Amino acid sequence: MRLTRYFLPVLKETPAEAQIVSHRYMLRAGMIKQASAGIYSWLPMGFKVLKNIENIVHEEQVRAGHIPMLMPTLQSADLWRESGRYDDYGEEMLRISDRHGRDMLYGPTNEELITDIFRSHVGSYKDLPLTLYHVQWKFRDEIRPRFGVMRGREFYMKDGYNFDVDRDAAIHAYNRHMVSYLRTYERMGLQAIPMRADSGPIGGDDTHEFLVLADTGESEVFYDDRILDLNFGDRAVDYDNWDECASIVTEWTTPYARTDETHDEALFNTVPEAHRKSSRGIEVGQIFYFGTKYSEAMGATVQNDKGENVPVHMGSHGIGVSRLLGAIIEASHDDKGIIWPEGVTPFHCGIVNLRQGDEAADGACEAIYHSLVALGLEPLYDDRDERAGGKFATMDLIGLPWRITVGPRGLKNGVVELTSRRTGESEELPPELAVARVGEIYGKSAV
Ligand code: ATP
Ligand code: MG
Repeated sequence: MRLTRYFLPVLKETPAEAQIVSHRYMLRAGMIKQASAGIYSWLPMGFKVLKNIENIVHEEQVRAGHIPMLMPTLQSADLWRESGRYDDYGEEMLRISDRHGRDMLYGPTNEELITDIFRSHVGSYKDLPLTLYHVQWKFRDEIRPRFGVMRGREFYMKDGYNFDVDRDAAIHAYNRHMVSYLRTYERMGLQAIPMRADSGPIGGDDTHEFLVLADTGESEVFYDDRILDLNFGDRAVDYDNWDECASIVTEWTTPYARTDETHDEALFNTVPEAHRKSSRGIEVGQIFYFGTKYSEAMGATVQNDKGENVPVHMGSHGIGVSRLLGAIIEASHDDKGIIWPEGVTPFHCGIVNLRQGDEAADGACEAIYHSLVALGLEPLYDDRDERAGGKFATMDLIGLPWRITVGPRGLKNGVVELTSRRTGESEELPPELAVARVGEIYGKSAV
């Protein structure tokens, strides 16, 4: 993409309404625009990152054997009356009536809808295990939407639902989700710690939240800091192997890590004092096992291997896709702007032309641009007729992890500059080598 042809409405001033750094940078970098309280338009660069995050979520869900689908945003109130949640959910639910006076609602979550789909089509244990998920907009009429996409009213969420014949099988589904979430967040450059949590209106006993440590987080968390040494890495996991998934869950749930809702001071005090930490965290996901709560209320049963009809065991598992943009920026920025992890960056590499209109500089930038594209990468070429300082400030603000800087003086010596946004370190290299280096970083090489 060439910057002169893109839509990147960067703001010079810091917007007064934004209280936290991720919100400020998302507005300044032209990623989002508020449409009304807690509701945002996703401008091209924000949309790109949102889709990158969504893609990682899809890849890891499919890797774990979960099946993508799509349910609507608007739901009929009838199903929610069956589960009893139409009255329980309270004012966060946006209630709408259609022209015929039928009660509808904008879905805050989808347990009822998915249970209805399940009971209409599945009747035998032979069709299990089954995990269906979608990534869809949700609406919760939050009393205090704030911090930009972090606590919106309309937000984008992955929610998945497992259906299993009994508790043991459903606990495996729970474990499988925990394992796949660990890998999902790591691919986004995040350390998200599973913490024992409280189940809230969804109900059930087994639940973990995934929290990213950040001063601006809304949750208070307590943990043994040795959990920060755990690293999922590139393990080849067999998601059908119950023991393997369970042992990974044990690895991550043995060190103390809880939110304030389940915090147990006496137990916490058994952690050596040097490792006892409390701080703030951003909730980026949650997994639940809630057994037969919805299947009993809504008559979703399967025939087991003894020929008995039993209510299906379920769980639900959510990832805050739009909130993750805020969480990633909170975890990865400096005073100049965002620092995108390679896994989610909107463009792989920036190209800055120090002297637009100079024949050698323009030619070298074009060649670098085409070579990067040929490797399957997406560069962003700042081809504006602007001072170098302004171009650097924009690149630093939008946070592309790598930048190639091209100027007439370097070209006379046959070199361009490759700079890491994270460390600020630069290296002078011939243009082809700079391209090859960027290719290597993203695992792409010329054939
Ligand atoms: P919170 O405690 O932050 O209100 P929740 O526990 O009610 O969230 P869940 O039902 O667990 O939310 O939803 C799954 C995920 O969706 C959350 O872990 C969070 O990342 C995200 N999420 C929930 N509410 C919002 C919101 N208002 N704006 C953006 N993301 C949200
Ligand atoms: Mg939650």
